[in-house]
Amino acid sequence: MNRYVQSTVMSCSILAGVIFLATSLSALAGPSAWTDSMVPGSISATKTYSLKDDFYVAVNQQKLAVMTIPEGETNYGTFSEVEKANSARLIEVMKNGKGTSKDEQLLHTYYGLLSDWAARNAQGVNPVVPYMNEIKNISSLAEMTAYLTSPGKNPDAIGLIGFGPSLPMSNPDTYALTFTEGNLFLPDAADYKEMSEMGKIYKQSSTDVSLYMLQRFGFTKEQAQAMVDNCFKLEAMMADKMYTGADKGSIDFLSRLDNMMSLADVQAKCGAYPISAIVSAYGVKQTGMCSVQNPEYFSTLAAIYNEQNLPLIKDYLMVKLAYEVKEKVDRAAYEETTKIENEAMGVSGMKADDEYYLSRAKENLGKVVDNVFIRNFATAKMKKDVLGIIKETTDFYREMIKSEDWMSAETKAAAINKLDKMQINAVFPDKLRYYGDLDITPASAGGTLYAADAQLSNYFMREALNRIGTKQNRSEWDYSEVYEVNSNYDPQDNSINIFPGILGGAFYREDMTREEMLAGIGMVIGHEISHAFDSQGSQFDATGAMADWWTEADKKAFDEKVNKLIAYYDNIKVNDLCGNCDGEFLSAEAIADLASIKCMLSIAKEDPNFDYDKFFRTYAGVWLRVMTPENELWRMTQDNHPLSYLRVNLTVAQFDEFIKTYGITPSDGMYIAPADRITVW
Ligand SMILES: [Zn+2]
Repeated sequence: MNRYVQSTVMSCSILAGVIFLATSLSALAGPSAWTDSMVPGSISATKTYSLKDDFYVAVNQQKLAVMTIPEGETNYGTFSEVEKANSARLIEVMKNGKGTSKDEQLLHTYYGLLSDWAARNAQGVNPVVPYMNEIKNISSLAEMTAYLTSPGKNPDAIGLIGFGPSLPMSNPDTYALTFTEGNLFLPDAADYKEMSEMGKIYKQSSTDVSLYMLQRFGFTKEQAQAMVDNCFKLEAMMADKMYTGADKGSIDFLSRLDNMMSLADVQAKCGAYPISAIVSAYGVKQTGMCSVQNPEYFSTLAAIYNEQNLPLIKDYLMVKLAYEVKEKVDRAAYEETTKIENEAMGVSGMKADDEYYLSRAKENLGKVVDNVFIRNFATAKMKKDVLGIIKETTDFYREMIKSEDWMSAETKAAAINKLDKMQINAVFPDKLRYYGDLDITPASAGGTLYAADAQLSNYFMREALNRIGTKQNRSEWDYSEVYEVNSNYDPQDNSINIFPGILGGAFYREDMTREEMLAGIGMVIGHEISHAFDSQGSQFDATGAMADWWTEADKKAFDEKVNKLIAYYDNIKVNDLCGNCDGEFLSAEAIADLASIKCMLSIAKEDPNFDYDKFFRTYAGVWLRVMTPENELWRMTQDNHPLSYLRVNLTVAQFDEFIKTYGITPSDGMYIAPADRITVW
């Protein structure tokens, strides 16, 4: 459940009221000539693709023609290759428990419980039954209130809200108690008013999973169906004032999340819903103001939480509990529910068991896995190389900002200050987080997976809630999921975080050429730093506070450039199912790609023998990826990064170095006239 809020609500990673400028968009040769190559089988090995017309497909053609998606996966590509190698290394540590630290031992113990199918199958759903009965036996709103405020009966704090620590946008010094909207099955609150294609897929799969799980708890099929119907009925009421996908994709969305109010005021908003009692029951020692991400949702809650809706609320909670434990119980539940979800997303087969164990470990003790990954696989050489490129990149950005002719000296000074104050977190922190006081009981001492999950959930919930009211320490890297093939920029502490997980394969090898290095990890670093100056990052200042450091004229000039990019993307149709791109939703990530390549090309200028062909081909290769049609549709609405073929073609086509290297002329598909180019920085 969304029980506690991530401290970085919106860090920008490498992977995941508009003025329409009437430039000659329809006359552009480019986008319409490019093939949507995301789904396997869309590119033939024998057809001729020209680098001049469709660079991404021409470079990757032979691989795209044969690339398939592995069993149990929604997509595959260059990122997945690195991820596979990382997983293999982590799985080895997890299985043999090598290493003397507590972190490796915890991971190994957890693996022992996960893989003990005999014990898991013998228990089935039995450990969860008492918790299910707690909800089933509720017969009045007063009893519901007692349930919601009893960690003993409701250990995971399921309910109609989420709560946890986060840094308020306008004042990120201190972690505040933060309230989020409740949990919905459908991906977009708007789906409850008008069902989207993606909404239909989620409705079907969450219904089927819930029906299966509820029957495992002894409900008849008819009872289960009625419970699921009630659950969706309640969700439709909850969704009424929730933020929609369109809200979340708008550039000003983050400013709408910053609503500070006292706990008494939050309680007054949500009527009888016992929000004060809940947070105090779960051990929040709240003193200051709370951050309420969507105040209107809490007013809706006041109208929902009453005796009349009690049957709906009960069914909602029972459905959610059954759904949440689908991977925590036995083999039958794991296989059946995974099969349902895989079919819905066009995925064939199941992932290997070891991959499943690792993904569960990442989900339930990810912070321990971070430590294991860093201790075993991050090297001082990696850190030195990454810091070297970061230095070159920040030097470039400093010069780039100084040379922008549309920006005043005042705004430039503020931008350079932001760059100078940027916190650099590369590869590993000075000191690893300590988990010596975390314990799970191994199978040999009578432990079970269900009990271990409860111990872990309790420990990490307490760790998160204990943050509330504490100061953010900007000099300490608050690392998370660094085993992933990813990196991020966090606008709330103005930090770039380059993960050790991305330092492999096409991104980084010690024997790489300069061209490969700049198109790989260099591009990642340039991308993350530029998030400080994209359409969203530019709303935060050097301290990480949401603040306007722009003069009015500079902001207007910047917005015009961003709007041109938005209009450009809005005009690109991917395919009939996915429709057109949402430029506003994609703008921050698209700007980061553009600025990054500009930066790498500028660094390249210092080398008279720089091999541009090698650089551009490596860049296109980094984004090689195929996915199921369902995953492509999901990305179009839920992932704010442009699809691979667009983030390559649309980016490289803006630069003279590319035009020159391949002799692109106005009749070529990759040609964009200088006046139509969309470089923001
Ligand atoms: Zn990004």
